[in-house]
Amino acid sequence: MNLENLIKQLEDLGSKSSKLEPNELERNELIDTVKNFANNFINSLKEAKGYSPKDAGVLAIDGSKRDFLELLAQYQENVVETGIIAASGKHVGYIPGGGIFVSAIADFLAAVTNPYASVYYANPGAATIENEVVNWLKTLFSFPDTAVGSLSSGGSTSTLIAFTAARDHYKIKNELVPKSVVYMSEQVHHSTQKALRIIGLEDVIIRYIPLDDFHRMKADELDKQIKGDVQQGLNPFLIVASAGTTDTGAIDPLDLIADIAQKHQLWFHVDAAYGGFFILTSKKGLFKGIERADSLIVDPHKGMFLPYGTGAVLIKNKSAALHSNYYEANYMQDATNESLVKSSANISPELTKHFRGLRVWLPLQIHGIEPFIACSEEKLVLTQYFRQRLIDLGFKVGPEPDLSVSYFWYPFESDEEAKNRRLMDEIHKDGEVFLSSSIIKGRFVIRMAILSFRTKKETIDRAVSMIESCLAKVK
Ligand SMILES: *Cc1c(COP(=O)(O)O)cnc(C)c1O
Repeated sequence: MNLENLIKQLEDLGSKSSKLEPNELERNELIDTVKNFANNFINSLKEAKGYSPKDAGVLAIDGSKRDFLELLAQYQENVVETGIIAASGKHVGYIPGGGIFVSAIADFLAAVTNPYASVYYANPGAATIENEVVNWLKTLFSFPDTAVGSLSSGGSTSTLIAFTAARDHYKIKNELVPKSVVYMSEQVHHSTQKALRIIGLEDVIIRYIPLDDFHRMKADELDKQIKGDVQQGLNPFLIVASAGTTDTGAIDPLDLIADIAQKHQLWFHVDAAYGGFFILTSKKGLFKGIERADSLIVDPHKGMFLPYGTGAVLIKNKSAALHSNYYEANYMQDATNESLVKSSANISPELTKHFRGLRVWLPLQIHGIEPFIACSEEKLVLTQYFRQRLIDLGFKVGPEPDLSVSYFWYPFESDEEAKNRRLMDEIHKDGEVFLSSSIIKGRFVIRMAILSFRTKKETIDRAVSMIESCLAKVK
């Protein structure tokens, strides 16, 4: 092959591949189109339903070119208008989503500039932004400066990282696995059991500790269980407490559990994925003891109202965190001179990843902390407001929750369960506001979870009217 031939090929390929770099005019067109789409979407949320149970159409890729406007119409029909509208304040089921706008802008900036954020040497600035987010979280939960942490895709991944550190610190492997014991509440999030399976601890013994009337773990029962297990020759090593349970919004007695963990020298993990940011509110006192945890997870994509895709993990024991995640590789040799914990790749299974620190950092800098605190406090008050409105309609409600998740049911004179199930179906059929259901202490209940930054008094008023008309259909 001669040089001339190569040059000709490159001209041809270069002209085709340059389509991947739209010119400024084309870029402006794309941005304007998306800008209009985003504005229409946000403006429509108030009137749009919270739930639209229909299937998606065909969205397959066939390799041919398509028109952007056409694709956006398809996106609207198939994505924006199907299922639970998670960006809507009318999502009051499961754990609601967020989607604050400045985070979306940060994602755009991060994607356009595309810095390599997980290795300090590769982009000191991006790594520093990620580290400052972790530092801010350490301050929030009164963790020492020496603790390490990283931003993850969400709570499930954060749990994997934390449990792996606990496992490695206590060297839980081989014949020790089936003798090792993990303690948790029955109300623990299922990502806890899932994480144990994924990290090779499927065969550990799990002890579910009984709960009090407010769905909080009974610390004395925990202590008793651990003592009994030690007497039996078992190997207790990990306690999982929740700072905000998914189903009941309860905070386990963290300080008492920390005492017990300390006494028996166990790893104390706190799952604050949903509830963690309420530490900024009037509920701060309930979090006492969280600063004593060995590891903690918290989800900015829940309690900071960010779009999906950002969790965080903090771990006090640096060498335990590095044990599984730090690996020296030849092709990374330029990177190893820097302090290990400045690079999130050493505290996480992820190497190349989205620069997610910016979507946390930028909103905190632009808005300041105050609106975040007010928004969390607002969710707590809305929960009380919703419960009172339901009581006034004759509903029974669960115990006063620690945070913003609660549940209710109607005390029908006959067929209580079947009729509450029908009520749930009617609410889903209506779809104005989305609520979910659960089974708590054997009873079918309808569950409310208030966490969207877009959920306001007006949303709850609409929910109450909807529930009232659905109830009339079942009665
Ligand atoms: C949501 C949640 C998780 C799991 O987090 P993801 O971000 O969904 O992976 C874990 N624990 C609790 C208490 C949660 O609410």
